[in-house]
Amino acid sequence: MPALVRKKILVKGVVQGVGFRPHVYKLAAERRLAGWVKNDAAGVTIEAEGPGAAVAAFIKDISSRRPAASRIDSVAVSPARARGEKSFVITKSGGKAPAAAIIPADLALCADCRREMLNPADRRYLYPFTNCTNCGPRFTIVKSVPYDRPYTTMAGFKMCPECLKEYKDPLDRRFHAQPNACPVCGPAVKLSYGGKTFSGSAALAKTAALLLAGRIGALQSLGGFHLACRADKPAAVKALRAAKRRPHKPFALMLPSLAAVEKYCFISKAEAAALVSSEAPVVMLRRRATPFGEPAPGLARLGVMLPYTPLHAALFSELAQKGFSGPLVMTSGNFRDEPICKDVPDVKSRLAGVAAFSLSHDRPIHNRADDSVAFEAAGALRLARRARGYVPAAVRLPAAGPSVLACGADLKNAFCLTRGGEAFLSQHIGDLSEPLNQEFFKETLGNLRGLLKVSPALTVHDLHPDYASSAIARALPGKKLAVQHHAAHALSVAAEYGLKGPFLGVALDGTGYGTDGAIWGAEFLVFKGKTWRRAGHLKYFGLPGGDIGALEIWRPALALVKQAFGPGWRGKAGRLFCRVPAAKLLTVERMLDAGLNSPRTSSMGRLFDAFSFISGVRPEATYEAQGPMELESLLSGRLAKPYPFAVGEGREFELDPAPAVKESVLDRLAGRPAAHISARFHAGVILAVADAAGRAARAAGLRAVCLSGGVFQNRVLLEGVSAALFKNGFKVYSNRQVPANDGGIALGQAWYALKGYRPA
Ligand code: ZN
Ligand code: ZN
Ligand code: FE
Repeated sequence: MPALVRKKILVKGVVQGVGFRPHVYKLAAERRLAGWVKNDAAGVTIEAEGPGAAVAAFIKDISSRRPAASRIDSVAVSPARARGEKSFVITKSGGKAPAAAIIPADLALCADCRREMLNPADRRYLYPFTNCTNCGPRFTIVKSVPYDRPYTTMAGFKMCPECLKEYKDPLDRRFHAQPNACPVCGPAVKLSYGGKTFSGSAALAKTAALLLAGRIGALQSLGGFHLACRADKPAAVKALRAAKRRPHKPFALMLPSLAAVEKYCFISKAEAAALVSSEAPVVMLRRRATPFGEPAPGLARLGVMLPYTPLHAALFSELAQKGFSGPLVMTSGNFRDEPICKDVPDVKSRLAGVAAFSLSHDRPIHNRADDSVAFEAAGALRLARRARGYVPAAVRLPAAGPSVLACGADLKNAFCLTRGGEAFLSQHIGDLSEPLNQEFFKETLGNLRGLLKVSPALTVHDLHPDYASSAIARALPGKKLAVQHHAAHALSVAAEYGLKGPFLGVALDGTGYGTDGAIWGAEFLVFKGKTWRRAGHLKYFGLPGGDIGALEIWRPALALVKQAFGPGWRGKAGRLFCRVPAAKLLTVERMLDAGLNSPRTSSMGRLFDAFSFISGVRPEATYEAQGPMELESLLSGRLAKPYPFAVGEGREFELDPAPAVKESVLDRLAGRPAAHISARFHAGVILAVADAAGRAARAAGLRAVCLSGGVFQNRVLLEGVSAALFKNGFKVYSNRQVPANDGGIALGQAWYALKGYRPA
């Protein structure tokens, strides 16, 4: 008999609440090892004993065959004294709540559970709350740590003997699955429609019938309610648009399977992987034809997700029985930019008049979380919105430090709490100019602080004095630090990649408050040691009316055209503005000339807005970035001859778009199509930004470039600038774990504070 070897193995990462211990138990059983496994403060600890080769193979298995929803950050092995044990056991977690316990993110319905609930012989046939250790609600039902059933919104449900047996059996897929439930003992659905209520399978059947008839309903999902209707019924989509007062903004779709998605969209390998992942985000896919009610007018991409809860799966099964396998619109159950509704009273007070019926259930949502939105660009999956499925997974920081709260920015707000070397971003909170979102921020901050058990030593906020997020920060006790918006954007990339050395940050963005009081938005920033400075920027232009220029996109266009052509602009480009009422045009021109309510800006977002106006894509927008997204949607592969930009000299160089504006106006007046102008504009910006970045980096002796800011969600721009810089020998980094838009800015703010950056 070979000599017995015993090893102590410490596994760190996302290893709790994801079926890790039963998995380890099975691996140990396969190799006939003795010992034990348990959850503890640091992660999962294992002691395994057996023949040396078997123990070694077992240790290899732990990482190579890990459970789908787990993430392993480290496996530390140390020798232990053999004890001659005979069996392998799962032992109880030690005592109180572990200090560094990780709350897992919500997990989409797994293949095993889906199979069970679609099997008429299974006791969970079409049961809308089927789950196991590999799938189900997590973050959205957690009230406090440790992650155990009594501390979730499942506390009120007592497991039936059969469920309890599964829960207690180490070899069962539902061993310690905290939300475990079945039709006998678990939550149930309820449909409210026209003063009547329906429950169980009748509720699902009636919901399917109502949707098929073209009605709009509110459906309770994991982190909140959706508003749903058939996407192939133009009248239904139109009614939803009218009710939500969203004339054009794209709606996300849900389709029953990858095969169904393929009928409407092209899917790459990475996109398919994202669709079926346990995070199950909305994925932006290039569309084929659109034989239905235009969920995304003017856009080349559709936001699509697969059914990610058993309730969705049961509903699509009902729909399939009635012969429907097409897309449903599944958009956030909210009004405008308010927080997503999370319970029936919420739906009644805020969505009355929008939803004809509501399908709800009695497993309360504790933490709201909207759907996440992902897209593939420059060879990687990126996030446009980080919420359900990703939160509260941590981003690992390059170094540890005291706990910091970073409040983010006002648009697409998400905040960040750090604990040791980890950064926890909140779910997407939204636009903080909406008072309900400020409440949502405070509610979420309270929840997340409780779960993480941290008391931040410092509160970081944006430099903008009038931001609601800055006001929230100022009202909190303790030390404060204000961080410039674009420095934070750039540092969000550095934090993600653990960059320790100097780098050039290129932030292309909508708007952010600059250190000179101007509205910045296309910035080249040098980070060296612990200091940063601005090396260059887009040449300032006036923004008459301020933020309203993001919707009335002819305003930034007017400013740029006037700046490019000078006083004689009307003779050369006046025709472009023929659809703007003459009196309004004159008023705004006078505002610009007098510098009244016309902040100076270097905003790349407004430059894109202006070019979407000049190209003729649209005169005004009904949602932020509509013009630029439609402008990008016109591109079809090859770019055209770039519009020229001029570069000024000086300590801070200026990138002047005047030559590009002039040529684009000539193109438009010569009747060139918008697609041509779009192609020349994109080529011009890519060339100008890559050139300027290359020169700024070389001048400062930098080899690394970090790209961030909301404008880099433009796929063509991100890929073009990355490729050009890479070709010129630079290392190029861009956001993956957090959004490049303001949803990721809190990470950069936190890292700014922890590393102790300051202006040079
Ligand atoms: Zn499952
Ligand atoms: Zn049960
Ligand atoms: Fe920004």
